[in-house]
Amino acid sequence: MPVGSLPTMEPIVELRNVTKRYGEHAALDDFSLQVRRGEFLTLLGPSGSGKTTILRLIAGFEQPQAGEILIEGRDAQNLPPYRRNVNTVFQHYALFPHLSVRRNVAFGLEQKKLSGPEIRKRVGTALEMVGLLGKEERMTNELSGGEKQRVALARALVLEPAVLLLDEPLGALDQKLRHEMQVELKRLREWVGITFIFVTHDQEEALVMSDRIAVIHQGRLAQAASGEEIYEQPATRFVAEFMGVENFFEAAAGETTALARQFETAEGWVFWAANSSHLPPATRAVVAVRPEALDLWTSPPEPKPMNLVEGRIVEAIYEGGRRRWSVEIAGGKRLVVRGSNPDSSALTRGATVFVGWDPRSTLVYPGE
Ligand code: ADP
Ligand code: MG
Repeated sequence: MPVGSLPTMEPIVELRNVTKRYGEHAALDDFSLQVRRGEFLTLLGPSGSGKTTILRLIAGFEQPQAGEILIEGRDAQNLPPYRRNVNTVFQHYALFPHLSVRRNVAFGLEQKKLSGPEIRKRVGTALEMVGLLGKEERMTNELSGGEKQRVALARALVLEPAVLLLDEPLGALDQKLRHEMQVELKRLREWVGITFIFVTHDQEEALVMSDRIAVIHQGRLAQAASGEEIYEQPATRFVAEFMGVENFFEAAAGETTALARQFETAEGWVFWAANSSHLPPATRAVVAVRPEALDLWTSPPEPKPMNLVEGRIVEAIYEGGRRRWSVEIAGGKRLVVRGSNPDSSALTRGATVFVGWDPRSTLVYPGE
């Protein structure tokens, strides 16, 4: 098939080399990202990394000092917020407290001077979508947190935007309600087919909800990929740490076989890594392994895994369904191991243990 006849997948929102400064401080620094039509994209990063700034730029509440923002293929520079076909749901609802649920949701449509019957129809559909039918006449200051957030969602959805921006919308809810709303938001997205750009600092929430995750670090894009890829193959040490990888060691690259490369730490341990072809030979590196990827034995296992170290348990914590062990190895360094192990009763403080893992689980980053 000639290239020209391939279907084009034009991004619905695109940021190109965007820089946004507040005074001297760059909240976003040469930031680029494409959001695909219809996807659920999550911006994930610690507090202060620039997530809200990204949403405010897309919504048109802020202007960048450099770079371009395109919405549905058009340069948005001269588009005021109300002409961007984008709507925002904030963490703190921003509802009218003394208006009914119905009036809160209808407000945007009344501003647009839609006809009475049209407004009633659209408000009804939006309230059905968020599960608020029957609560139309309640005042919003009489609602629970979860219900308020549903009103805020309905109010954004009723305007039928192409893109919905959600800034930590579940942040104020308790854990149980939060899980319920996560499932509902996913279901809702499938129903309406609107593009969702969702902000959170919670990596588990990002994994549960997203088609794709963009990890933000100090105003820059650290990695954009599926949740699985970000979890299994974090692109940088920062992403790895943010996604729960705990065991980091400085090491020098050594012998290479067809399947793996050796790394030697300052303490003299040798780790094998299967995925290090991106590093030049004889280089300094940081090797890491996720606590869940480590196996524990009370006697040397057979067959012996390529990575195996002996140590002593210095801490054992029951986390509910799984355990977390801290294992001290030669030189005083520790490995954190997490999982459910049939030998748990023998894996207590002071026990001598063997820790092993597959070279494919060793993550390798350039040395600092
Ligand atoms: P996040 O949403 O990831 O927590 P923000 O986008 O709110 O991060 O902020 C990114 C950085 O920009 C932070 O260092 C923050 O202090 C700064 N910042 C955000 N808004 C303003 C503002 N209006 N004035 C000055 N600094 C700001
Ligand atoms: Mg924020």
